[in-house]
Amino acid sequence: MESSKSLNECKCRLAMGRKFVVGGNWKMNGTKQQINEILSFLKAGPLNPDTEVIVGVPAVYLDYVKTNSPANVEVAAQNCYKADKGAFTGELSPIMLKDIGVNWVILGHSERRQIFGESDELIAEKVAFALSNGLKVIACIGETLQEREAGKTEEVVFRQTQAIANKVKDWSNVVIAYEPVWAIGTGKTATPQQAQEVHKALREWIGKNISQDVANSIRIQYGGSVTGTNCKELGSQADIDGFLVGGASLKPEFVTIVNARQ
Ligand code: PEP
Repeated sequence: MESSKSLNECKCRLAMGRKFVVGGNWKMNGTKQQINEILSFLKAGPLNPDTEVIVGVPAVYLDYVKTNSPANVEVAAQNCYKADKGAFTGELSPIMLKDIGVNWVILGHSERRQIFGESDELIAEKVAFALSNGLKVIACIGETLQEREAGKTEEVVFRQTQAIANKVKDWSNVVIAYEPVWAIGTGKTATPQQAQEVHKALREWIGKNISQDVANSIRIQYGGSVTGTNCKELGSQADIDGFLVGGASLKPEFVTIVNARQ
């Protein structure tokens, strides 16, 4: 009964054309030696060809990983700025990323929001600028524990998405990563039901406030302590179209997570 329900949910997603997408966010981790180990397990896979796989790499290693990663793994920067070039010390531009063949960027991660003080407005500007320069974007949203406990989860994720909607009209190159902040790097995963509840509410909100086409087609990843053990049940939820994975993306279990829908 359960497995036929999961099968129907998968069929429904396929009918909507939503390819499962799993991103690894390496954050500020990795030396060349560690990166070679990660590349080895990615090459060995095998990785489900029906899943899109993207690794978010520290800036200094983007070119190296782009050159040495297997063809079925795409590479993302973990941030970029909203200008082509200029006096922005320490920043990267979308043009530079495209120049070395990087086609993806992760924007709005909660660590960027919380540690580096990035606002909804700045993140939305960066998303719009990256898209207009031909990058694909994983746009992260999510509530803190305090916001969840105050019953504000939906208000927060709708507000963060609205900020992006104010600047972006074409959503075809956007993946949304719903990452409850309290679940990131804490080992506390949202239950499949908690995650599905927010994903469903967000998709409905998008249907009402952006368009029904975008709601049907946009991929919404879940992120927050996803592991090789919990990925299958999370990945079987109707509105979860993949994962953004931090800690476990540095380990061979990332292959299991990529293959969660197999
Ligand atoms: C993340 O950093 O996006 C993340 C989800 O981290 P973790 O999987 O370690 O919780």
